[in-house]
Amino acid sequence: MSSPWDLPAPEAGRAARPNAAGLGRFELGLLMASLGEPSWRGGQLLSGLLRQRWTRWEQFSNLSKSLRARLESDVDLAWPAIVQSQPSADGSTKHVFGLGDGRQVEGVHMPYEDRVTLCLSSQVGCAMGCTFCATGQMGIIRNLTAPEIVGQVVAMLNQHAHPQDRPVSPKQDAEGHRATHGPGGAGATKVPVNLVFMGMGEPLHNFDHLMAAFESLTDEEGLAIPPRRITVSTSGLVSGIDRLGALARRPRLALSLNGTTDEARSRIMPVNRVWNLEALAQALGRFPLQSGERITIEYVLLKGVTDTLEDGRRLAAFARRFPAKVNLIPFNPHEGSGFEPPEEARVGALCRQLSDADLPVSVRRSRGQDVAGACGQLVRDGQRARPRRPKTED
Ligand code: SAH
Ligand code: SF4
Repeated sequence: MSSPWDLPAPEAGRAARPNAAGLGRFELGLLMASLGEPSWRGGQLLSGLLRQRWTRWEQFSNLSKSLRARLESDVDLAWPAIVQSQPSADGSTKHVFGLGDGRQVEGVHMPYEDRVTLCLSSQVGCAMGCTFCATGQMGIIRNLTAPEIVGQVVAMLNQHAHPQDRPVSPKQDAEGHRATHGPGGAGATKVPVNLVFMGMGEPLHNFDHLMAAFESLTDEEGLAIPPRRITVSTSGLVSGIDRLGALARRPRLALSLNGTTDEARSRIMPVNRVWNLEALAQALGRFPLQSGERITIEYVLLKGVTDTLEDGRRLAAFARRFPAKVNLIPFNPHEGSGFEPPEEARVGALCRQLSDADLPVSVRRSRGQDVAGACGQLVRDGQRARPRRPKTED
């Protein structure tokens, strides 16, 4: 038990038939062994499921016909269902995933010219209770399992796949990873996939399932997403940050700072009452970084609450204590939050203040704002009004 908050993912209510979708290499090996096959065949399953992204057992041409028939009769292959998709005017699409127990989580597909970024959920709801965050207001319902986390990735890649969007061979891929995505067409360039755990939930609060999913997502025989293309955003669980820092293979770290004094931060982020700013700065200072790696400091700008020029000065001082880059996030308003977005001029002024302090800084214009898919607006289970209709269709 690593933390009093480590809620189990549901075991009860699981279907009696195993579901191979999203299982890791080890579990797939066990599944093969249970069918009387050598466990190394788990790797073949992993490759078919994640590298090829086959969705029917009959497609598994790397297995014998008789084994395919046994899988067909004994094992499910069911990725989380996308129950609702809302394209936004900016090209991103918010997807709602239906889980086995009827719960729902959300993810966002964000295509850019040179990459695709998928924003993923790690929990149904969130226990951290940040006052500006819609997900925080719904409380924690449960952790996602590793297959549910991996499933969001595969379901979104499959949903947006072009017929030409096929995994490329390692030779074709200068960066050595295969999870690519692109508009396809002859000679079309495939773009790499980035994953950010910035959807629903506190990922470090679901550490074991998160890292099991990380292993599958980065597995060379699967999607082979490079660890540096996966970012985990935390509200500041120092115990989880230390645990992550101790791993040889790990995703990158982003910290949601969102306040520059203990008084202000504790008011909007209750976790600050457990680990305050000094404890956080020390944890980030001892976090072992690779060469060139920086910790992302996310900072939500709440008008009149976190966006003063004094805040800018303190934010710069905090971020200069270790290799960092700063992401300013103008608040995305949601019903009943009681907070307002900052003035544009203030966003610009803060941005300049940080770059004058020699910090790499960017302003995150949250995508999917018009369909409530932007950071901090992800809330499910009837806790908020239905998002507005999308403005555009794909
Ligand atoms: N729980 C993790 C990751 C999910 S929240 C965390 O807090 O870091 C992802 C990001 O969205 C965080 O930086 C959070 O501060 C930000 N966020 C939450 N609600 C927001 C809102 N209404 N507007 C803008 N950003 C918000
Ligand atoms: Fe949870 Fe992150 Fe929202 Fe805070 S900001 S309530 S940690 S999802």
